[in-house]
Amino acid sequence: MNISTEEFGKVDGQAIEKYTLSNNNGASASMITYGGRVTELHVPDQNGKAANIVLGFDNLRQYQEKNPYFGALIGRFGNRIAHGTFEIDGQQYKVVTNEGDKTLHGGKIGYDRRIWKATPMRAAADHVGLQLDYISPDGEEGFPGTLTCRVVYSMNERNELRIDYTATTDKPTPINLTNHSYFNLRGAGNGDILGHEMQLFASHYTPVDDTLIPTGTIAPVQATPMDFRRAQPIGSRIAQVKGGYDHNYVLDDPKGEAMGQAARVVDRESGRTMEVHTTQPGIQFYTGNFLNGSIKGLGGTYGKHAGFCLETQHFPDSVHHSNFPSVILRPGEKYQQTTVYAFGVLKT
Ligand code: BGC
Repeated sequence: MNISTEEFGKVDGQAIEKYTLSNNNGASASMITYGGRVTELHVPDQNGKAANIVLGFDNLRQYQEKNPYFGALIGRFGNRIAHGTFEIDGQQYKVVTNEGDKTLHGGKIGYDRRIWKATPMRAAADHVGLQLDYISPDGEEGFPGTLTCRVVYSMNERNELRIDYTATTDKPTPINLTNHSYFNLRGAGNGDILGHEMQLFASHYTPVDDTLIPTGTIAPVQATPMDFRRAQPIGSRIAQVKGGYDHNYVLDDPKGEAMGQAARVVDRESGRTMEVHTTQPGIQFYTGNFLNGSIKGLGGTYGKHAGFCLETQHFPDSVHHSNFPSVILRPGEKYQQTTVYAFGVLKT
């Protein structure tokens, strides 16, 4: 197991580092300190040939320019907050809006554009890791409290990329951290993901209005194009879903400390498989609906549905829905979540 580092560019004179975690089974994951982004993830196909399976860039400039959160750590609050307002303990807060009157992925300058402090972790027998720290000041983007965040990426010999998130605060604040990687198991830039087969271990989802804000209902997926309880090609019913999939699923597995299985994706062309396990109660399934061929990244041009995201999370706009699991972190409490992306190949 190995961890290597190189410079990836500079932001305002400050060096941005790129770290690569690699194992002895053909897998490697690269991250940069700008946004804590996963820039590359190489895993073998059925013939043992590795390819990069996440959308990304080979240069900092493109990450700094407009791009849809490729590989990024998302915070302080993943997905949307209606009207950029919420109330905690009777006090009203207004946060920075960046999508009409809504806040998406933490505001104008979310954690995806902050510089994280990296500490490589000493390689253990079975895994290698990178610790990333970011202290989000009280009032940043309007959010209350200093949030001290730590994210640890690690890779083991079983080709599992694990992400451990922890945080503490000095004032009550909403928190919803996630990673926004776009996957394409055929290789980034190698066409779309509509033929990938996906299974989601979720009997319910949170329907949204036209502005992608949850209505508050927790609806069954039964007899709708949202139903992925049995494996289905991602594209088989996508035409029936206005705009494509961009929905939060309510995971069936019991959550809490233990990790439940959230998803399994199979690409029969490459033979690659991916499983998602998480402590989180929800997962945003997003099919890259807003990609339109205007971005050229690693492996080629990214057209519509060039990648899919499975963002483990608490439910969008939870601050306005008392029937959703709470997203408020209080002083003295520790926020702790883990997600594992496990890669494999179909048996021949
Ligand atoms: C959201 C999409 C949004 C995308 C940004 C996803 O998490 O669900 O609505 O467009 O992030 O790239």
